[in-house]
Amino acid sequence: MRQKSILLAGNWKMNHGPSAAEGYFSAIEIAPKANAQMRIYPPFLSLSASLNTVEQKKLPIQIGAQNLHFEKTGAFTGEVSGPMLQEIGITQVLIGHSERRQYFAETDETVLKKTISALNQGFEVLLCVGETLEERKSGTTNLVMETQLKLILSDEICKSALGLKLHIAYEPVWAIGTGLVATPEQAEETHAYIRSLLVNSIGAPKADTVRLLYGGSVTPANFKDLLACPNIDGGLVGGASLKPESWMALWNLI
Ligand code: PEP
Repeated sequence: MRQKSILLAGNWKMNHGPSAAEGYFSAIEIAPKANAQMRIYPPFLSLSASLNTVEQKKLPIQIGAQNLHFEKTGAFTGEVSGPMLQEIGITQVLIGHSERRQYFAETDETVLKKTISALNQGFEVLLCVGETLEERKSGTTNLVMETQLKLILSDEICKSALGLKLHIAYEPVWAIGTGLVATPEQAEETHAYIRSLLVNSIGAPKADTVRLLYGGSVTPANFKDLLACPNIDGGLVGGASLKPESWMALWNLI
Protein backbone atom coordinates (compact mmCIF):
# COMPACT_ATOMS: atom_id res chain seq x y z
CA MET A 1 0.00 0.00 0.00
CA ARG A 2 1.41 3.41 -1.01
CA GLN A 3 2.07 5.84 1.81
CA LYS A 4 0.51 9.13 0.66
CA SER A 5 2.17 12.48 1.22
CA ILE A 6 -0.49 15.04 0.33
CA LEU A 7 0.20 18.35 -1.39
CA LEU A 8 -2.44 21.06 -1.57
CA ALA A 9 -1.19 23.58 -4.12
CA GLY A 10 -2.91 26.80 -5.15
CA ASN A 11 -2.33 28.50 -8.49
CA TRP A 12 -3.40 32.14 -8.32
CA LYS A 13 -2.72 32.71 -12.02
CA MET A 14 -2.90 36.49 -12.77
CA ASN A 15 -4.80 37.32 -9.57
CA HIS A 16 -3.83 39.04 -6.31
CA GLY A 17 -1.21 41.79 -6.51
CA PRO A 18 1.19 42.41 -3.60
CA SER A 19 -1.30 44.10 -1.26
CA ALA A 20 -4.04 41.54 -1.97
CA ALA A 21 -1.46 38.79 -1.32
CA GLU A 22 -0.55 40.35 2.02
CA GLY A 23 -4.24 40.61 2.95
CA TYR A 24 -4.84 37.00 1.91
CA PHE A 25 -2.09 35.52 4.05
CA SER A 26 -3.03 37.79 6.94
CA ALA A 27 -6.46 36.14 6.85
CA ILE A 28 -5.14 32.56 6.71
CA GLU A 29 -5.18 30.57 9.94
CA ILE A 30 -4.10 26.97 9.55
CA ALA A 31 -2.46 24.30 11.67
CA PRO A 32 0.36 22.20 10.19
CA LYS A 33 -0.43 18.57 9.32
CA ALA A 34 2.00 15.67 9.61
CA ASN A 35 1.01 14.08 6.28
CA ALA A 36 0.42 17.16 4.15
CA GLN A 37 2.05 20.27 2.73
CA MET A 38 0.42 23.51 1.56
CA ARG A 39 1.84 25.58 -1.27
CA ILE A 40 0.72 28.66 -3.23
CA TYR A 41 1.96 29.96 -6.57
CA PRO A 42 1.27 33.74 -6.66
CA PRO A 43 2.13 35.95 -9.66
CA PHE A 44 5.80 37.03 -9.81
CA LEU A 45 5.10 40.52 -8.49
CA SER A 46 3.38 39.14 -5.39
CA LEU A 47 6.06 36.61 -4.45
CA SER A 48 7.97 38.85 -2.03
CA ALA A 49 4.83 40.12 -0.26
CA SER A 50 3.61 36.52 0.04
CA LEU A 51 6.94 35.23 1.38
CA ASN A 52 7.18 38.07 3.89
CA THR A 53 3.67 37.66 5.24
CA VAL A 54 3.96 33.88 5.48
CA GLU A 55 7.28 34.25 7.29
CA GLN A 56 6.00 36.92 9.68
CA LYS A 57 3.00 34.77 10.60
CA LYS A 58 5.09 31.57 10.66
CA LEU A 59 2.51 29.89 8.40
CA PRO A 60 3.37 26.36 7.17
CA ILE A 61 3.00 27.41 3.52
CA GLN A 62 5.51 27.12 0.70
CA ILE A 63 5.52 29.90 -1.90
CA GLY A 64 6.39 29.09 -5.51
CA ALA A 65 6.58 30.78 -8.91
CA GLN A 66 4.19 29.99 -11.77
CA ASN A 67 6.93 29.87 -14.39
CA LEU A 68 10.60 30.58 -15.09
CA HIS A 69 12.81 30.98 -18.15
CA PHE A 70 15.24 28.17 -18.93
CA GLU A 71 18.14 30.60 -19.39
CA LYS A 72 19.70 32.20 -16.34
CA THR A 73 20.18 35.63 -17.92
CA GLY A 74 20.02 37.34 -21.30
CA ALA A 75 17.91 39.14 -23.89
CA PHE A 76 14.50 37.67 -23.07
CA THR A 77 12.18 40.65 -22.59
CA GLY A 78 9.47 40.12 -20.02
CA GLU A 79 10.92 36.89 -18.64
CA VAL A 80 12.09 35.92 -15.15
CA SER A 81 15.01 33.59 -14.44
CA GLY A 82 15.85 31.04 -11.77
CA PRO A 83 18.63 33.10 -10.14
CA MET A 84 16.23 36.06 -9.82
CA LEU A 85 13.67 33.86 -8.07
CA GLN A 86 16.33 32.38 -5.82
CA GLU A 87 17.54 35.85 -4.88
CA ILE A 88 14.16 36.53 -3.23
CA GLY A 89 14.00 33.09 -1.62
CA ILE A 90 11.86 31.04 -4.03
CA THR A 91 12.64 27.32 -4.27
CA GLN A 92 9.43 26.02 -5.91
CA VAL A 93 8.24 26.40 -9.48
CA LEU A 94 5.24 25.33 -11.55
CA ILE A 95 6.08 24.30 -15.11
CA GLY A 96 3.96 23.51 -18.19
CA HIS A 97 0.55 24.71 -16.99
CA SER A 98 -1.97 24.27 -19.82
CA GLU A 99 -2.52 28.05 -19.98
CA ARG A 100 1.21 28.47 -20.67
CA ARG A 101 0.99 25.79 -23.37
CA GLN A 102 -2.25 27.24 -24.83
CA TYR A 103 -1.59 31.01 -24.72
CA PHE A 104 2.21 31.26 -24.59
CA ALA A 105 3.18 28.55 -27.06
CA GLU A 106 4.96 26.31 -24.57
CA THR A 107 5.71 22.91 -26.03
CA ASP A 108 6.87 19.59 -24.60
CA GLU A 109 10.37 20.67 -25.70
CA THR A 110 10.33 24.02 -23.83
CA VAL A 111 8.71 22.34 -20.84
CA LEU A 112 11.60 19.85 -20.81
CA LYS A 113 14.18 22.65 -21.08
CA LYS A 114 12.57 24.57 -18.23
CA THR A 115 12.30 21.47 -16.07
CA ILE A 116 15.96 20.51 -16.57
CA SER A 117 17.10 24.07 -15.97
CA ALA A 118 14.99 24.42 -12.81
CA LEU A 119 16.19 21.06 -11.43
CA ASN A 120 19.82 21.90 -12.21
CA GLN A 121 19.38 25.10 -10.22
CA GLY A 122 17.93 23.23 -7.25
CA PHE A 123 14.24 24.12 -7.63
CA GLU A 124 11.46 21.70 -6.81
CA VAL A 125 9.19 21.40 -9.86
CA LEU A 126 5.50 20.65 -10.19
CA LEU A 127 5.00 19.69 -13.83
CA CYS A 128 1.53 19.96 -15.38
CA VAL A 129 0.03 17.66 -18.01
CA GLY A 130 -3.52 17.25 -19.28
CA GLU A 131 -5.67 16.53 -22.32
CA THR A 132 -8.18 18.79 -24.12
CA LEU A 133 -11.88 17.98 -24.40
CA GLU A 134 -11.44 16.87 -28.03
CA GLU A 135 -8.64 14.52 -27.00
CA ARG A 136 -10.74 13.02 -24.20
CA LYS A 137 -13.76 12.64 -26.51
CA SER A 138 -11.64 10.90 -29.11
CA GLY A 139 -10.32 8.46 -26.51
CA THR A 140 -6.69 9.59 -26.72
CA THR A 141 -6.18 10.74 -23.11
CA ASN A 142 -3.58 8.04 -22.35
CA LEU A 143 -1.74 8.75 -25.57
CA VAL A 144 -1.60 12.46 -24.70
CA MET A 145 -0.17 11.62 -21.25
CA GLU A 146 2.43 9.41 -22.91
CA THR A 147 3.34 12.16 -25.39
CA GLN A 148 3.50 14.98 -22.84
CA LEU A 149 5.67 12.88 -20.50
CA LYS A 150 7.84 11.17 -23.10
CA LEU A 151 10.75 13.64 -23.08
CA ILE A 152 10.66 13.99 -19.30
CA LEU A 153 10.63 10.23 -18.75
CA SER A 154 13.57 9.67 -21.05
CA ASP A 155 15.77 12.36 -19.53
CA GLU A 156 18.19 11.20 -16.84
CA ILE A 157 18.11 14.46 -14.82
CA CYS A 158 14.31 14.38 -14.69
CA LYS A 159 14.19 10.66 -13.95
CA SER A 160 16.51 10.96 -10.99
CA ALA A 161 14.54 13.95 -9.64
CA LEU A 162 11.15 12.21 -9.80
CA GLY A 163 9.70 11.71 -6.35
CA LEU A 164 12.31 14.01 -4.83
CA LYS A 165 12.28 17.35 -6.63
CA LEU A 166 9.90 16.56 -9.47
CA HIS A 167 6.21 15.83 -9.08
CA ILE A 168 3.29 15.87 -11.52
CA ALA A 169 -0.12 17.54 -11.70
CA TYR A 170 -2.72 15.97 -13.99
CA GLU A 171 -5.05 18.74 -15.10
CA PRO A 172 -7.59 17.91 -17.80
CA VAL A 173 -7.82 21.15 -19.79
CA TRP A 174 -11.61 20.79 -20.08
CA ALA A 175 -11.90 20.86 -16.28
CA ILE A 176 -9.76 23.95 -15.62
CA GLY A 177 -11.83 26.95 -14.59
CA THR A 178 -14.97 25.43 -16.15
CA GLY A 179 -16.72 23.98 -13.11
CA LEU A 180 -16.56 20.62 -14.93
CA VAL A 181 -14.61 18.46 -12.49
CA ALA A 182 -13.41 15.03 -13.61
CA THR A 183 -15.22 12.30 -11.69
CA PRO A 184 -13.03 10.49 -9.15
CA GLU A 185 -13.18 7.46 -11.50
CA GLN A 186 -11.99 9.48 -14.52
CA ALA A 187 -9.25 11.16 -12.51
CA GLU A 188 -8.08 7.91 -10.88
CA GLU A 189 -8.01 6.10 -14.22
CA THR A 190 -5.64 8.67 -15.71
CA HIS A 191 -3.57 8.97 -12.52
CA ALA A 192 -3.14 5.19 -12.50
CA TYR A 193 -2.06 5.33 -16.14
CA ILE A 194 0.49 8.06 -15.40
CA ARG A 195 1.74 5.98 -12.46
CA SER A 196 2.17 3.01 -14.82
CA LEU A 197 4.26 5.19 -17.16
CA LEU A 198 6.39 6.16 -14.16
CA VAL A 199 6.79 2.52 -13.15
CA ASN A 200 8.03 1.67 -16.66
CA SER A 201 10.53 4.51 -16.56
CA ILE A 202 11.89 4.49 -13.00
CA GLY A 203 10.54 1.32 -11.38
CA ALA A 204 7.73 0.80 -8.90
CA PRO A 205 9.40 1.79 -5.61
CA LYS A 206 10.45 5.20 -6.94
CA ALA A 207 7.24 5.70 -8.96
CA ASP A 208 5.29 5.29 -5.73
CA THR A 209 7.05 8.33 -4.24
CA VAL A 210 5.97 10.71 -7.02
CA ARG A 211 3.13 12.97 -5.96
CA LEU A 212 0.38 12.97 -8.59
CA LEU A 213 -1.93 15.92 -8.04
CA TYR A 214 -5.34 16.33 -9.66
CA GLY A 215 -6.30 19.80 -10.92
CA GLY A 216 -9.48 21.08 -12.56
CA SER A 217 -12.38 22.75 -10.72
CA VAL A 218 -11.44 21.31 -7.33
CA THR A 219 -13.69 22.71 -4.58
CA PRO A 220 -14.42 21.81 -0.96
CA ALA A 221 -17.47 19.92 -2.32
CA ASN A 222 -15.50 17.45 -4.45
CA PHE A 223 -11.99 17.32 -2.96
CA LYS A 224 -12.55 14.58 -0.41
CA ASP A 225 -13.81 12.05 -2.99
CA LEU A 226 -10.86 12.83 -5.26
CA LEU A 227 -8.38 12.48 -2.39
CA ALA A 228 -9.82 9.08 -1.52
CA CYS A 229 -8.54 7.69 -4.85
CA PRO A 230 -5.42 5.55 -4.43
CA ASN A 231 -3.28 7.45 -6.95
CA ILE A 232 -4.35 11.02 -6.14
CA ASP A 233 -1.89 12.72 -3.79
CA GLY A 234 -3.46 16.14 -3.58
CA GLY A 235 -4.82 18.98 -5.65
CA LEU A 236 -3.63 21.84 -7.82
CA VAL A 237 -6.34 24.41 -7.34
CA GLY A 238 -7.09 27.63 -9.21
CA GLY A 239 -10.42 29.32 -8.40
CA ALA A 240 -10.91 27.80 -4.95
CA SER A 241 -7.43 28.91 -3.86
CA LEU A 242 -8.25 32.60 -4.34
CA LYS A 243 -10.38 33.08 -1.22
CA PRO A 244 -8.95 32.27 2.21
CA GLU A 245 -12.24 30.63 3.30
CA SER A 246 -12.42 28.07 0.48
CA TRP A 247 -8.67 27.49 0.67
CA MET A 248 -8.75 26.76 4.40
CA ALA A 249 -11.82 24.56 3.87
CA LEU A 250 -9.81 22.43 1.40
CA TRP A 251 -6.94 22.14 3.90
CA ASN A 252 -9.34 21.04 6.60
CA LEU A 253 -10.57 18.17 4.41
CA ILE A 254 -7.14 16.53 4.39
C1 PEP B 1 -5.48 25.58 -12.36
O1 PEP B 1 -5.34 26.75 -12.59
O2 PEP B 1 -4.47 24.86 -12.35
C2 PEP B 1 -6.81 25.05 -12.04
C3 PEP B 1 -6.95 23.78 -11.84
O3 PEP B 1 -7.84 25.96 -11.99
P1 PEP B 1 -9.34 25.69 -11.41
O4 PEP B 1 -9.17 25.02 -10.08
O5 PEP B 1 -9.95 27.05 -11.30
O6 PEP B 1 -10.03 24.80 -12.39
